[in-house]
Formats: sequence, structure tokens, C-alpha cells
Amino acid sequence: MRPAIREVLRTLIEAGYEAYIVGGYVRDVLLGHDTNDCDITTSATPDQVERLFPETHSHAKQYGTIGVVCLGELFEVTTFRSEGTYDDFRRPSSVTFSTSLEADLSRRDFTINALAMNLQGELTDLYGGQADLESSLLRAIGDPLVRLREDALRILRALRFQSQLGFQLEASLVDAMKECAPLVAHLSSERVMDELKKLLRGPFLELALTQYHEIALPGLPLLVADEGLSLVEQCAIAQLRDHFDASGFPWTKEERSIYIDAQTLTTSAPTKTQLYQMSHPQAMIRIGAVVYHWDAAKLTDMYHGLVIHSRSELKISGHDVVALQFEGESIEQVLRTVESMVVEEQLHNEQTAILSWIKEHYDENY
Ligand code: ATP
Ligand code: MG
Repeated sequence: MRPAIREVLRTLIEAGYEAYIVGGYVRDVLLGHDTNDCDITTSATPDQVERLFPETHSHAKQYGTIGVVCLGELFEVTTFRSEGTYDDFRRPSSVTFSTSLEADLSRRDFTINALAMNLQGELTDLYGGQADLESSLLRAIGDPLVRLREDALRILRALRFQSQLGFQLEASLVDAMKECAPLVAHLSSERVMDELKKLLRGPFLELALTQYHEIALPGLPLLVADEGLSLVEQCAIAQLRDHFDASGFPWTKEERSIYIDAQTLTTSAPTKTQLYQMSHPQAMIRIGAVVYHWDAAKLTDMYHGLVIHSRSELKISGHDVVALQFEGESIEQVLRTVESMVVEEQLHNEQTAILSWIKEHYDENY
């Protein structure tokens, strides 16, 4: 256990509260995986936590979580909870604090995520999480149908844990996932996207996608089992192939531009100039390779082999063109022509060569 984690637990315990590490950290330590994120659960209320540590963050205080900075590390310290009612298949409509670790663990999603570890490294394992870790099994806590109806995001969490860990999903969990699949449509796209992004990065993507396709989740894209495709690339592929509309997703500016640029791709692979002009050539190559069977290796080589990758690498600038007495729009026109000639390797990227080509070519025009 890292010194900073010990320090947080010790501070809480010495003040008379219970405190445990829970969730992903315990799971990953037992699996021997690297882990950074460490969630701590405690009997102290958020106000009490704030009073114990000199540096805290309170942006998630309404959910019972205080960010605690200790020895330079940030921890999420959450008061024991027993969630209230779920009335829209999304988040609990209210958060109720609880005084027992047992109640807190019972609201968690899967047995392997409901292990608690105390300062001495001893485990509380109320649901057989250790045995499930050993047999590589993902199992819901309680009746899977009830738990997935409460929060349909757990369907996607099950798939992303399968992709990250390579675990089998317990049979009644799979049945419940199929039955509850329509509820995914009620989830916020932010939460869905977070889980899908994690799913796509998992080392057992193919296994998880076999299950994903069997369950058929409405409103979600059909994902391709190619590694290295980002979520927006996957959605762009689904857009071109199945008319899947992901334009309403809360993409970043960069993601949105990839999604929109992909709409212009066609069966014919891009030329050097077209590759050069793309804002996201690598992404476009990956998308085109899946949808239009472009030769990705060849196009990647072609892209890396381009003589220049941006106008700043061109050995002449706008000033040089102005010095040749060009004016207004014709400056940009000349630069664009020269740029394309250099990219297509019809003109050397050398200042004298370019300037004499311009003089020769535009002789009568200026
Ligand atoms: P990661 O390694 O991705 O952080 P994690 O298991 O820590 O995985 P988090 O989303 O950080 O996942 O959640 C922390 C813990 O909170 C989980 O281990 C689980 O116990 C609980 N949890 C999170 N989301 C849910 C949910 N939708 N329903 C029930 N319990 C949940
Ligand atoms: Mg976590």
C-alpha cells in the first residue's frame, strides 16, 4: 500500500471513523495489475472529511465525495452510501448516506468491485468477489435484472470490464443484459461514451464485442473489432456503413471534425495531395480501411513519405510571392499550386527551383 493511501486511512481512523479502500483499486491489486486511482470509503460525513484534511476539493460533495490531496496525490473519499430510489433507470434520484460498510458494498455493481481493504490489508468480501476474481467471472451483486433495471449503465460496464479483464459474464447476467438492453436508450450520452471509450481500449476487445453484438443495444453503434480505433472513428464507420447518427453526441471539437470529415470519404483511396490536405489523415486512413477497404499500410507509408506535411515546410513563403509582385488572391493561388506540385513531387522543395518555376509559369500573368 502506498504511503499516501496509508496516510489517508490512518487520518480517518485516528479521528474515530471507519475507512477502507474499495472498488477498482482493490480489484486491480488482487489481479496484480497496475493501478493508480484509489477510492476510499468512510463512515465520516463529507463535512467531517473536509475538516480532517488541509487540502480538499468539493465539486462532487453532493454525491458524498470529497477530493483529498495527501502527499501530493489526489484521492476520492466517499461517505458510506446506500443509494435511494432509481426512478429513471439512470442515476439514483437521491443519495442516502449510511453508517455501515455492508450497506455501501451492497449497492455496488459486481462482486469483484465490492471488495474492501482496511489499513492492515485485510479484505471484507461479502459477495465472493475473490472467488470470482480467481475464476475470471463477472457476476452482479444480487438479482441482475433488478440491478440492471436500477441503472442500465451497468450493462455497458459489464462489457467494458469484460474487454479490460477478459472475464466471462455469468449466465443470468447475460440474460438480464439482453432483457434490459432497451433501457440503454435512456442513458446520458456522456456516461455511455465514457464506458465505450474504456471498452475500446481493453485488451480483450474481441471477446467483449462478440457479447456486445449478441446483446444488440439500441441507439449504440455497431462496433468493429479492429484495435486502435477511437470511439469517434467507430461512430464515423457506423455512420458510413449503417447510417448510424452520432452527430448529437457531445464530441470534443477535434472529434467532431473527424466525424464530419469522414462524411466526404469515398471508395477511391486518396491521392498524395488529398492526404496532405486532410486535417486528420491517420484517422481517415483507419476509417477508409474499414469502410472502403483502402490499403492502410500503403496509405500510411505514402503519408509518412510526403515531401512536406504542412505549408510551413514549404521552402518559400507568402513574402517571397509578394516580392515577385503578386497581389491579393493570386498570392494564395500561387502558394496552393506550388504546394500541390511539391506534394506530388513534380517540383523540388527548394527555394530557387520554386521561384524560377513561378517566374516561368506565371510569366505573362503578372
Ligand atoms: P476503473 O479502473 O475504470 O476506475 P472502477 O471499478 O474503479 O474501474 P469506477 O467507475 O471508478 O470503476 O467506480 C468505482 C466503484 O464504484 C466501482 O468499482 C463500483 O464498486 C462502484 N460503481 C461505479 N459505478 C457503478 C454503478 N453504475 N453501479 C454500481 N456501482 C458502481
Ligand atoms: Mg475507479
